[in-house]
Amino acid sequence: MATSPSRPRLKPIHPAYRLDDRVFRIGAQLGITAEFDDPEHHLWSLVAALDGRPLPDVIQAVQRQFPELTEQDVLDGITLLDQEGFIEESFPGAESGIGARYRASVNYFSRFIGVAGDRFAPQRRISGSNILLLGLGGGGSNILTLLAGLGPASVTIVDHDVVEEGNLGRQLLYREADVGRSKALAAAGAIAQMNSDILIDARQQRIDSVEDIAALLPGKDLVISAIDEPPFVAQRIVNKAIVEAGIPCVFAASQVSRGRVFTVLPGQTGCFDCLNVHYSQRDPQFVSQFAAFSELGFDPPSIAYGPSVFILTATIVDEATRVLTGYAPPRSLGTQFEVNFEDGSAFAHPSWPRLPDDCPTCGNGDPATWEVFGHYLQQV
Ligand SMILES: [Zn+2]
Repeated sequence: MATSPSRPRLKPIHPAYRLDDRVFRIGAQLGITAEFDDPEHHLWSLVAALDGRPLPDVIQAVQRQFPELTEQDVLDGITLLDQEGFIEESFPGAESGIGARYRASVNYFSRFIGVAGDRFAPQRRISGSNILLLGLGGGGSNILTLLAGLGPASVTIVDHDVVEEGNLGRQLLYREADVGRSKALAAAGAIAQMNSDILIDARQQRIDSVEDIAALLPGKDLVISAIDEPPFVAQRIVNKAIVEAGIPCVFAASQVSRGRVFTVLPGQTGCFDCLNVHYSQRDPQFVSQFAAFSELGFDPPSIAYGPSVFILTATIVDEATRVLTGYAPPRSLGTQFEVNFEDGSAFAHPSWPRLPDDCPTCGNGDPATWEVFGHYLQQV
């Protein structure tokens, strides 16, 4: 332990319980539970003292019971429990700063944060974040609902559409009375009732160009892109704008019974056009396949089934939270993280690298070198 904790405590999210006179356990979830063989009850006495009292009092309490133990013995016990992920700094008084509202989120983050960290830090980061959310359809409207619960400082929401009756099966932010209203305005009204701390900037506008997005980016910490029209072109437009502005973006893509998430950290991970170049280099069928699909102009009916949409949007918002706060490593950096609604599985595709020499968008490449870009229906 680099520095000693001030008031270490057993994380309240984990139970500690004796199995018999030798063995005790902490945790009750598969993958988290650890069993300790502790015939002399040294560690158990430490666990009992780890209630948030000052470290010297913890040491004193253990030594009162077992005078033969040194201060270093107690510190070693704390290190052991920390390595198992069971203790945290208690930070008395910090609860009131976050308020009751986000306490459960803080408790969740505490699972990932040890005694040297601060379980409140992810929530503080969220609470100070300004997010641009593109699209308020099946993806975006449910993403916004989840963001309302997490409580960022502001969300700028953009959609040109109006609410239709056929949206109500999965876009649960909207009410029957919203049918015919602007999605952006209806969403703003709903969020104002759900979390009045969030500043909402609602824009009823179409996204047609890189400039449209660039105008919305100043001051933003993160973009979530839930637009897919025009197909593929939308992703290229968003990608170019966020790369130029240097702002991370989490992209959502929905398929038939699977959905994907990928994240671009400009200058660090491969961007969407690096993906185009990478596949052009690696997959001999990629360009012809893309050209055929692009020319087809395939416009499928909506197949967004509410429960599936919820799984995907929850994955996206958790990914956005990971990118913003680092509470756990993001799963979609330079890779497409795919969620399969049919069997509940998820996996990451092979990753693609950033290609600074070849990518025309985040690097020094020439788009004319890569045939694929000529097959996009709109140039960006
Ligand atoms: Zn790139």
